[in-house]
Amino acid sequence: MYKCVYFSITELVHPQILKQIGSENSWLRLNSGCLQDLDTIRREWGGEVIINSGVNDSRGLRPPNDPDGSYYSTHKQGTTFDLVPKNGEHFKFYHFIKKLIIEKDIKHFNTMEHIKYTSSWVHVAKMNHSQDVLIIKP
Ligand SMILES: [Zn+2]
Repeated sequence: MYKCVYFSITELVHPQILKQIGSENSWLRLNSGCLQDLDTIRREWGGEVIINSGVNDSRGLRPPNDPDGSYYSTHKQGTTFDLVPKNGEHFKFYHFIKKLIIEKDIKHFNTMEHIKYTSSWVHVAKMNHSQDVLIIKP
């Protein structure tokens, strides 16, 4: 089992899931490669990266009945996260992650939501395709 160095389970999983199945079962439901990529992103970026925080509790693994996002969101599969750079350099962070994906510095995330639709966060996901990076609409 891989557990993140830089992120706690509460930052990665919705509180409803944690309450119902506990932290060990929550770690089991997260994609280990994506967790390794999250640590690489955080380490290479060098500054704090926020995922779940306060009322924003659906940026990582979401429960099946979560009202945020789409019904079939990959946020419900443990492969998708919304990342916010604490320093507020959102545009720079988006292109930083895109470059990490294209240059294969991270091995699992291969999909991003277009920056036009993500005004203050960066949506990264692992999906089933073979493009260098797939840019999706919400
Ligand atoms: Zn997202």
